[in-house]
Amino acid sequence: MRGITAFSAVAALWLASAGTGIAASSLTVLCGVDEMWCAAMKTAYEAKTGVEISVTRKSTGDILNQIRAEKAAPTVDVWWGGTGDTHLQAGSENLLEPYQPAHERDMLPWAQNFFAMSGGRSAGIYAGALGFAYNADLLRELKLPAPTCWKDLTDIAYRGRIQSGNPNSSGTAFTTLATLVQLFGEDEAFRYLAALNHNIERYTPSGSAPIKAAARGETLIGISFMHDAVTQKQAGFPLVIVAPCEGTGYEIGAVSIVKGARNIEEAKRFVDFALSPEGQGTGAASGQNQVPSNAKSGLPLAAPDISMIKMVDYDFATFGSPEERSRLLRRFDAEIAATN
Ligand code: PLP
Repeated sequence: MRGITAFSAVAALWLASAGTGIAASSLTVLCGVDEMWCAAMKTAYEAKTGVEISVTRKSTGDILNQIRAEKAAPTVDVWWGGTGDTHLQAGSENLLEPYQPAHERDMLPWAQNFFAMSGGRSAGIYAGALGFAYNADLLRELKLPAPTCWKDLTDIAYRGRIQSGNPNSSGTAFTTLATLVQLFGEDEAFRYLAALNHNIERYTPSGSAPIKAAARGETLIGISFMHDAVTQKQAGFPLVIVAPCEGTGYEIGAVSIVKGARNIEEAKRFVDFALSPEGQGTGAASGQNQVPSNAKSGLPLAAPDISMIKMVDYDFATFGSPEERSRLLRRFDAEIAATN
């Protein structure tokens, strides 16, 4: 009897939602951050609004490619998370819908600058510095020196012991490529990448895979965002996180509405939530360590202090332009990836 009652309740809920159409997914979000945060955001947004949404995790370059491919008939409403220079690129290809979010006046200056640079098409939601991390247990076991600089990573001692993302699909890895070009100059950066290539075990499609592999001792060193490494360290893995001695680059993660979105009003509501202290709090609540863009949002306790890190004055306009990105990726594929 109890079983029948429970079944009836589920069936009634299903029929109600089918009848009203409310519960059918009315917003499609592609999510560029860690899976844990994607899931937490879905839960929080649905609890707040009562609207069921579809949230799928993809790497940043893959999201850009999907939105490009679907330009004539978009299936995605919102692109939430992932490195901002890729959002800027989509904006300059006329793939995004301008929107002035409700919380824009509460944004920190770097996020306000980013919003202006995008022509009002993308809003900054978090920032974080690039770096690398190594597995301390494995390093000790292998009796290898501890790397502290980008240049150290080309040491023959680390042959086949480093993972990095593929910049074609990974926003993290494109930030790495753009950072090295800004730090060393383009030709020197490519000479560096060619030397590093000897030590790269593989280029992973996703940018967080290298740090997860280093955390578990599947590789020695992972190049990643430092906040991503902090999350792994907090999970108990023996990582030492390095802000490279030469300096480093950083990302501004962004949110954008896709041009031609089918659910435009719901998309705007989602963007407002993503910029609110409540929406940004889902990051820290799911173990993430980026610096939130809303001045009223709480800072995750273990977030790397980006003001203490030697940072390049990252040129988002140049590295977010379609021509520059395509040209650097072509050069990376021809000179580096082809020889791995
Ligand atoms: N994971 C974290 C924690 C990030 O901050 C970002 C970029 O915003 C990414 C992943 C991006 O993933 P991918 O490099 O796969 O595009």
